[in-house]
Amino acid sequence: MIKKIALVTGSTSGIGLGIARQLTQDGYQVILNGIEAPEQIAHLCTELKTEYCQADLTKAESIEQLIAHIEKHYGRLDILVNNAGIQHISPVESFPLAKWNLILQLNLTAAFIAAKAAIPLMKKHKFGRIINIASAHALVASPFKSAYVAAKHGLVGLTKVIALEYANEGITCNAICPGYVLTPLVEKQIPEVAKEKGMTEEEAISEYFLGMHARKEFVSIEEVAAATSFIASEKAASITGIALPVDAGWTAR
Ligand code: NAD
Repeated sequence: MIKKIALVTGSTSGIGLGIARQLTQDGYQVILNGIEAPEQIAHLCTELKTEYCQADLTKAESIEQLIAHIEKHYGRLDILVNNAGIQHISPVESFPLAKWNLILQLNLTAAFIAAKAAIPLMKKHKFGRIINIASAHALVASPFKSAYVAAKHGLVGLTKVIALEYANEGITCNAICPGYVLTPLVEKQIPEVAKEKGMTEEEAISEYFLGMHARKEFVSIEEVAAATSFIASEKAASITGIALPVDAGWTAR
């Protein structure tokens, strides 16, 4: 049986790596991508018995070359997980324009370019799963995260449009909206928030981060990966255009 091919962007760290591990376990051939150190990437390729494709997702040509490489070497792309993302925290009036542009480019435009390049390949095989890792911040806002919240809200809009356009081509498009997950992206924010609010890091975790969750625990990487795994499956054919919160009750309020 031909192995299904999955590309997970930003899969050399955090949530993306958890998704890559889960999809590998599910039997997909997973292509890794991300910008971590070469030794870490080599170690992950050995662990997952797969290939790493370098691509700076802030550059359109780089994304197009990545999908073209997959087409040339594997002839198909069944699952596209747009996961790579970054954060920057600052009030609107001092938010650097360069940071705004970078966040929009990576957290939103890269998903559009990757989907645009992947869809013709998915149409050939009448099967495709585009899964956008959005955020609870795609559904609700927090102060000081203007670019991130705007990009993630936009990603849910893009998800719905792709779902509608390709509903009869065997292609689904969905967003997953995690609450706080303890990854390098959040670990970096803990001391920043603690400093900003004059709190200890423990207080920042319990009051600021877990304060958003109804269930007072971080969401685990494995929980986000499990939701991705189901949405990627053939059984999820009728699930399309949704934004699925995996957020410990954050957006139930
Ligand atoms: P992370 O920092 O651990 O991982 C981010 C990944 O993106 C890394 O693999 C990194 O190499 C990659 N990346 C960064 N810039 C890149 C570039 N220019 N080109 C290619 N790859 C690049 O963060 P994470 O928490 O695992 O975040 C993954 C996704 O989940 C992001 O989209 C983030 O917004 C989303 N998310 C995270 C949380 C959370 O609490 N951690 C919550 C909701 C949503």
